[in-house]
Amino acid sequence: MTLHGKTALVTGSTSGIGLAIAKALAAAGCDVALTGLGDAAQISAMAQDLSNEHKIRASFIPANLVHPAEIRSMVAAAEHQLGALQILVNNAGIQYVAPLRQFPDDQWDQIVAVNLSAAFHATKACLPAMQRAGWGRVINISSAHGLVGSPGKSAYVAAKHGLIGLTKVTALDNASFGITANAICPGWVRTPLVEAQMQARAAANSISLREAEQQIIGEKQAIMAFTAPEQIAALALFLCSDSASTVTGAAMSMDGGWVAQ
Ligand code: NAD
Repeated sequence: MTLHGKTALVTGSTSGIGLAIAKALAAAGCDVALTGLGDAAQISAMAQDLSNEHKIRASFIPANLVHPAEIRSMVAAAEHQLGALQILVNNAGIQYVAPLRQFPDDQWDQIVAVNLSAAFHATKACLPAMQRAGWGRVINISSAHGLVGSPGKSAYVAAKHGLIGLTKVTALDNASFGITANAICPGWVRTPLVEAQMQARAAANSISLREAEQQIIGEKQAIMAFTAPEQIAALALFLCSDSASTVTGAAMSMDGGWVAQ
């Protein structure tokens, strides 16, 4: 499959799933804008490596997705540097775990801003060019937690459910423009976001990291294995293909059987 001549922006592409998606898009010939938090020099070097390896254009466009104005500037900068965007992957996400009664207000605001509102603002900013082109792909990285809840994850679960709702309306509003919008709902994927939860579990229960990992997976999934970021990226790539031109408004699970139970 080739995405040669297409341009993508992947939020949260400085780490984990987003980075794997950016690499897969670049390998398919797509120009990519990386964005996320982290050391600017290091991430710019990563973009340069992608560019050299796959003979595509890649740039790093920093933005803090908590701020809508920075999101609009990020999309404008990506369009200025790489041209009109046809693929938007809303992937950036953060987590915080605490019972609802003690859940800090500022954590609620941050999680809803990054995991949900940022997708609204970025999609809105990308739609004019996609509609003009008559082709577009919006991929929202939701979660098994977009379909079911877990204790202590009020903000994350609410935001991820909301993201699936936003996906459906994006799909319906843009069905006549050649634009599809879909959500991917991963189960456990071993990334820094989950590493932190495993370390917290190991410390709280005085168990090894390996035991914490087995507990965490076993509580939720039928298949006792992490999904690899590259597997999520392969599904994202399929959603960008012409074979997926009528897949829209869907929430696609890749979760080891988490929500089947
Ligand atoms: P990660 O922590 O490895 O990466 C998160 C990315 O988001 C980073 O690039 C980070 O810089 C960026 N980010 C965070 N806050 C930001 C902000 N304020 N402004 C700009 N960028 C910001 O996480 P990951 O596990 O790769 O998660 C990626 C997505 O997948 C998230 O939406 C997450 O909820 C979802 N997800 C992950 C898992 C999993 O098991 N890892 C499971 C289901 C869903």
